[in-house]
Amino acid sequence: MPELPEVETIARQLRVSVVDRTISDFESRWVRLTEPEPAEVVAARLRGRRISDVRRRGKFVVFDLDGGEALVVSLRMTGKLLYEVADVDERYVRGEIRFVDGTAMRFSDTRKFGRMAVIDAATLDGNGEFRRPRMPLHASLGQEPLARGFTVAWLRALLRRRPRAAIKVLLLDQRAIAGIGNIYAIEALWRARIHPLRKAGSLRAGEIARLHEAIRWALRKGIRLGGASPSDYVDARGNKGRMQREFQVYARAGEPCPRCGRAIVRTVVGGRGTFYCPRCQRAPRA
Ligand SMILES: [Zn+2]
Repeated sequence: MPELPEVETIARQLRVSVVDRTISDFESRWVRLTEPEPAEVVAARLRGRRISDVRRRGKFVVFDLDGGEALVVSLRMTGKLLYEVADVDERYVRGEIRFVDGTAMRFSDTRKFGRMAVIDAATLDGNGEFRRPRMPLHASLGQEPLARGFTVAWLRALLRRRPRAAIKVLLLDQRAIAGIGNIYAIEALWRARIHPLRKAGSLRAGEIARLHEAIRWALRKGIRLGGASPSDYVDARGNKGRMQREFQVYARAGEPCPRCGRAIVRTVVGGRGTFYCPRCQRAPRA
């Protein structure tokens, strides 16, 4: 499942490829791709619009359109945005954006969980603080962990607001911090030597500072390596990332901890497979 580094990689590539291109048409081949909007409504809003920028917000790819609206794409499990990639498997193409110059960007998605929406771009700018019940996720995303506002003090304040949450569950809450998913949460907690089940309110000042550093380190490393492809992630050019070769603990159950040599353990936290070192990351007292 693409997380911040994978989506950032895709957005940077598409920025080079599609900025300043004008959309001539949009075609949906999957009835739920644009829900709750009918595909014809989305197509009408896209036709004739020029893409002014491509960026990432949380795990969403954002295409800024002239006129203040934006096309947001949620890749979810297996969504891929492919610009002018040859030999795409037609069976999995769920949507296509065609440009007036004759080129096209296709949305391929084997599992069909990915979604597209045209929204007012300003709704992406908040930091989760104005959220209301049932607000769509893209309108209530939390702090960007690579932005200037993500400081040790900010993280400490978040942990104080949610003291009873297991730290790993809190890291995955997109309305708190936007963009971290299972892989990078696991890698960051290992680096910071914090057990995934520790209560957020139990972390000491030194641990919070280590966690802050570890989150940024893991995400930046992921971006530098073009994302992680433990299964089927590919970037906008159809290439796999390289971060999976550098995992310290993710998917390494039974292998020695790179820091202390103890066997890495697999467990489940908040319904997600989780890996940690039982010596470096001490379990909280029951
Ligand atoms: Zn260890």
